[in-house]
Amino acid sequence: SIDHLKQYVKRNGLLTLSVLGVVTGCVLGYMLRGTELSAQAKMYFSFPGELLMRMLKMLILPLITSSLMSGLSSMESKACCRVGLLTVTYYLWTTFIAVVVGIVLVEIIKPGHGTEMESNRLSGPVMTSADALLDLVSISTNVTLPIFAVSLQYKTELIPVFKTQVSSRQPNFVYLLPDEGSHEGRAVFLELTPPPDVHYRTRPGSSQQMNVLGIVIFSATMGLLLGKMGERGAPLISVCQCINECVMKIINAAVWYFPFGIIFLVAGKILDMSDPSTLGRKLGWYTITVLAGLFIHGLILLPVLYFLLTRKNPFTYVKGLLQAMVIALATSSSSATLPITMKCLLENCGVDKQIARFVLPVGATINMDGTALYEAVATIFIAQVNEYELDFGQLVTISITATAASVGAAGIPQAGLVTMVIVLTSVGLPPDDITLIVAIDWILDRFRTMINVLGDALAAGIIGHLCRKDFAPDTGGNATGLSQD
Ligand code: ASP
Repeated sequence: SIDHLKQYVKRNGLLTLSVLGVVTGCVLGYMLRGTELSAQAKMYFSFPGELLMRMLKMLILPLITSSLMSGLSSMESKACCRVGLLTVTYYLWTTFIAVVVGIVLVEIIKPGHGTEMESNRLSGPVMTSADALLDLVSISTNVTLPIFAVSLQYKTELIPVFKTQVSSRQPNFVYLLPDEGSHEGRAVFLELTPPPDVHYRTRPGSSQQMNVLGIVIFSATMGLLLGKMGERGAPLISVCQCINECVMKIINAAVWYFPFGIIFLVAGKILDMSDPSTLGRKLGWYTITVLAGLFIHGLILLPVLYFLLTRKNPFTYVKGLLQAMVIALATSSSSATLPITMKCLLENCGVDKQIARFVLPVGATINMDGTALYEAVATIFIAQVNEYELDFGQLVTISITATAASVGAAGIPQAGLVTMVIVLTSVGLPPDDITLIVAIDWILDRFRTMINVLGDALAAGIIGHLCRKDFAPDTGGNATGLSQD
């Protein structure tokens, strides 16, 4: 009946439109591939998609600062520490699990082994205890160096340097010095040299990368302090609440533009991609391995974990997140998806506001299960193609460095491909071999970003449940007693 239809549109309309957007974008992109479009025509064509990206990026900074400052102002610092610690521990463990899933799969499927090159070097020599000791020493150096590099990089990002300027290219007039937070900055800091054909920075305008983690740390500190200031802090808290309310309203309005933007975002990418004829059999199996790993981790293991810890139905939860996952698929950036993930969690999943406000932004920067899994699979795939036998110690090295490298990757398109150099070099593989997998990285990137977003969102549900005693049931109330949202 009409009423049913109305109900359906109200509940699922946006999601249906977004999915349609992805499909239409794919079809349109493939249809236009045959035609010779000039560079200028292509630029005009990608404009609606670019607009979508900019809208999302515009929202990140005000969203994180306002929600953390107003959210944490009503939180006890003890509870805050507990949530923080739990969040980071949970993130690291689930990332590690993802890596193990990837390693097991790639070792079973062996996408890089051709039938013609079945080698019998698989059974290594018998290990003596002295060998084992030497192995341990080499593993520890291979593992500690990359972790050290990632931590150093974070040390600089944790303490952001603010710079104000009104720029025609930057929608936010306050942003962080790009050289340290930028993708390129990370690459330089970690001494990573991506091969020349890794186009991880597509447009000059998109090089300004926000240091999300730095913003989180700064705003959280401010929020906690504001809460302690009592009466004097109240005005600023209510300013933050107003900003937050407005940002959420902008998000609610902007999402209706997204299905349209998605069409051009996806079509533009397909227009641009290199010819898929380079996709050989091995790359095909490699793609299947990565996708299977992402599926097992994101849609089986994490939901089971969610169920075990919360005793709630994980699939109703995941269903509430579909909109965010479509945006992740379309944008390939977990940072850009953040506003939508936040919207989904608050509106559909009933996660406590304070939890979502803290867990999500942190997750978007450090928790990348999909990326970690991908990096482990890709590294072992490259080893297999090179007929390079990895021993158990090297697998351990990969599992730890892939976790570290995913923490070091920014939530922007194809960041994982750059930090993968850490994993490759830790087991002595040539970083230039990234070129083997570059051709299909952009598509795998989209799927791993979906799992990254899913991982953050499920974490918020789990941590919200585990810490529910730390918070009064969410009534929208706050330190100042003003109502919001
Ligand atoms: N694009 C991914 C993200 O934003 C990062 C990556 O794996 O490249 O989460």
